[in-house]
Amino acid sequence: MDLADIAQAAGLRTPIRHQLFINGRFVDAQSGETMPTLNPHDNSRIADVAMAGAADVELAVQAAEAALPKWSRMAAMDRGRILLKLADLIEGNAEELARLESLDTGHPIRDSRMLDVPRTAVTYRYFGGMADKFQGEQIPVEVGFLNYTLREPVGVVGQVVPWNFPLMFTSWKMAPALAAGNCIVLKPAEITPLSSLKIAELMAEAGMPEGVVNILPGLGTVAGQAIAEHDRISKIAFTGSTATGRRIVQASAGNLKKVQLELGGKGANIVFEDANLLAAVNGAAWAIFHNQGQACIAGSRLVLHEKIADAFLEKFIPLARSIRLGNPLDPHTEMGPLTSLQHRDRVLSYVEVARSQGGEVLSGGKAPTGDLANGCYVEPTIVRASGWRDRIAQEEVFGPFVTVLTFKDDQEALQIANSTEYGLGGGLWTNNLQRAHKFARDMKSGMVWINCYKRVNPGSPFGGSGMSGYGREMGFDAMREYTQVKSIWVNVDAQIAPHYARP
Ligand code: NAD
Repeated sequence: MDLADIAQAAGLRTPIRHQLFINGRFVDAQSGETMPTLNPHDNSRIADVAMAGAADVELAVQAAEAALPKWSRMAAMDRGRILLKLADLIEGNAEELARLESLDTGHPIRDSRMLDVPRTAVTYRYFGGMADKFQGEQIPVEVGFLNYTLREPVGVVGQVVPWNFPLMFTSWKMAPALAAGNCIVLKPAEITPLSSLKIAELMAEAGMPEGVVNILPGLGTVAGQAIAEHDRISKIAFTGSTATGRRIVQASAGNLKKVQLELGGKGANIVFEDANLLAAVNGAAWAIFHNQGQACIAGSRLVLHEKIADAFLEKFIPLARSIRLGNPLDPHTEMGPLTSLQHRDRVLSYVEVARSQGGEVLSGGKAPTGDLANGCYVEPTIVRASGWRDRIAQEEVFGPFVTVLTFKDDQEALQIANSTEYGLGGGLWTNNLQRAHKFARDMKSGMVWINCYKRVNPGSPFGGSGMSGYGREMGFDAMREYTQVKSIWVNVDAQIAPHYARP
């Protein structure tokens, strides 16, 4: 099938963009090289996408540098207006974006429609509104002086986005950076570049000046590395694996660029004996199985009080088994494929890891057969670990794979929750107010959800500590990340101490 037939079969009305977006135009890579992006439902080829190299990164940086003076000095309200227009265009093209995202990533279409696309629009709208509300301060210093701060954009920023939520994560990165007046060189993941190229098209339609946003699909080790190393890029924001995060920190050292990292996680989802059991069961399923478990904040460790563990699993296991796997474009599908075959195999390898350390597979643990055998599918998988030190209780699996652990008292629950090198997201289910707040305080976690899980909002800071990285996306914190403070002193009517005064 050619590209037009593929688009038609997926219900798309507009052509699939497959070139780099540099200086407001879609162009081929300098080398002419392309890379395929596949449909994870059956591993068929969707499109050959231009593959950026270091020469394209250089062109994008030049375009961003040229656009920076005007964009950064434009009235903040006018920058915001373009982002607000973009949010409207995303809503106007919601079905198109949802289908494209599902085709390229495997997200069930109901999730793309209900979550990815609306959350993306809301993020651009929130930061569009933020553009003219984020401001400096006046500091009460010594008499006779006026001291105030300016919040200046960092400059040309590099952004490297992963494949698990390409549309949404692109908005989390681009919206605050643009609201603050920065220009962008963004690299989507090589296996999921399509939705960010569609956003580039909508950006142009919203009136984004040429060169402000440049989108460069390409390999991490080539284009990503070139962005991380580039000495005229002032900041890099990255979401992805801890191993790549470490490489980015090393590559950034040349020009000491500012670094922001959203890395892995191993979320503890703790269910106490007094919890509303049904709410906790449903919440735990959402926490791990949404997006096939490919989320850094997934509730991938289910930590159950031993008194209710059996009752919990009696409900949780049948729920997991009843989840409908299928073609992401089918509206009845509840869980789609993982995003690549390589990743599916990595997730399945953890079943053997579990068994080798005495883990017990309670449900799933394999790829489905039949119609879905050619895709990147994994059954919802529940594994009881032999202890919190097991690899499946420590390492990020990043799939529909939940590790069950049990505890006997609050102290042990907290010890288990804080036992990994990560510190991103975690949740707890209890009706005990004091316990809830104590755990929220004591959990080593950038985000804590009480009687809910995996809530995100553009106003609420998102990020972690330890091997989960540093910096925060969303809210006022994101604006701080994308600006630098300048302190300005004015002598209004002060008598300056004449230390070195001469007559
Ligand atoms: P990755 O970190 O290698 O890829 C994420 C992004 O980084 C992609 O855009 C990739 O092209 C880019 N990249 C890769 N090497 C780079 C380099 N040297 N310099 C700059 N950019 C580079 O992730 P992966 O290998 O695709 O997935 C492996 C594991 O990472 C997953 O199984 C999961 O545990 C974790 N992961 C976490 C997240 C998250 O949201 N925190 C997202 C994706 C993957």
